[in-house]
Amino acid sequence: MKLHRKPIPVKEAVSKVMERMKKNSHERVNLENSHNRYLGEDITASHPIPPFDKSPYDGFALHSTDTIGLGRGQAEEFRVIEQIGAGHRASRPLKKGEAVRIMTGAEIPEGADCVAMFEICQAYEKNGQSYMSLKRELKPGQNVIHQGSETKKGTVLVQSGTKINPGIKALLATFGYDQVKVQRKPKVGIFATGTELLDVDESLEPGKIRNSNAYMITAQVERAGAEAVYLGKLKDDFSTCFEAVSKAAAEMDILITTGGVSVGDFDLMPDIYKELGAEVLFNKIAMRPGSVTTVAEVEGKLLFGLSGNPSACYVGFELFTFPIIQGFLANPFPFRRRTKAYLNKDFPKANPFMRFVRGKVTMRDGKIFASPAGIDKSAVVTSLAETDAFIVLPGGTKGFKLGDMVEVILIEDSGKQEAFH
Ligand code: AMP
Ligand code: MG
Repeated sequence: MKLHRKPIPVKEAVSKVMERMKKNSHERVNLENSHNRYLGEDITASHPIPPFDKSPYDGFALHSTDTIGLGRGQAEEFRVIEQIGAGHRASRPLKKGEAVRIMTGAEIPEGADCVAMFEICQAYEKNGQSYMSLKRELKPGQNVIHQGSETKKGTVLVQSGTKINPGIKALLATFGYDQVKVQRKPKVGIFATGTELLDVDESLEPGKIRNSNAYMITAQVERAGAEAVYLGKLKDDFSTCFEAVSKAAAEMDILITTGGVSVGDFDLMPDIYKELGAEVLFNKIAMRPGSVTTVAEVEGKLLFGLSGNPSACYVGFELFTFPIIQGFLANPFPFRRRTKAYLNKDFPKANPFMRFVRGKVTMRDGKIFASPAGIDKSAVVTSLAETDAFIVLPGGTKGFKLGDMVEVILIEDSGKQEAFH
């Protein structure tokens, strides 16, 4: 028995999935292992930055009142009482007429309120004592990075749900987080269905193909920040598939199957959803490729029935599974970045449905250009290797021409860019 299929717009399908968003729990990880994880807490400044007044230069710390009237041939001699590098502090406060030789990052000594850079000072020795002469007036606070000037204690610097990048790691280290609370990665189970599927290490046999979707989807799940659990391939046999899917749905946060969602005689997923008593959110979308993408929910778990066709499978994941994974990760911006680009090639195909053409973007002179990657067919796998964006072509159009402005969804940064000039 096949389910009734009513195509719904992509936008509606995305919101139907996003309505089922669930918050994930948290875990603590060591700072070293936190890269690309999603923060499970705000990062609040636990102390001011910098924590003390410090010198931005190598030079001499002194008091500005000792420089009043200097200039135009009028020099003043300072007794250099000691030398401090970053990490050291002066042993005593400065008195009038004294200076401290100070290195970048060292704390401004008590009794000093400014720093004269080496370049404007003349240092010399006299009777075994160090001196420095200066011909410039300095203002109070000149060349001093003041305590808290970068950030005050208690400031919220990064919000929970933000992906940890190298800059955020620097902040975590600054504030002494040797461990950090992160969103637990949702566990995404993956089954590839199809009696025709061979494992990657098997030789080709007549009528069979290697299972590429499992590897592709595993990588997409990981790229999205979730934990991929590949559960194996399943033959198109009802009871095998039913057992496997119902067991995995209970164990995983999200379950992805590829293949078997069409209307063919061996497309078993619709009957499996029925037998499971799953609520089908939609089973037909007004889009190409991936119109058969089906999403269902059983006992609070989302089941993504992606097409077996590699390009359709890839697109279905990025449009519908990617954002809900971001939801689990508490990412406040769950959608891929979109921008406008100039089409770099004619695209003469008429579009009764909204089309997501696998493409690649290049940037030149501040403009973005998008070209279709390889053959635009849902069954194609080769074009995916080049894909770093989807070119979104709205339905009801008669094709597009080179130079037309189109919307693109950026999937990954392929780094295709000319050298900096
Ligand atoms: P289906 O969605 O099961 O009707 O499959 C559609 C097409 O995708 C068929 O040609 C399948 O052989 C192919 N296909 C299904 N699963 C995979 C897979 N895991 N890897 C590569 N191709 C697949
Ligand atoms: Mg199949």
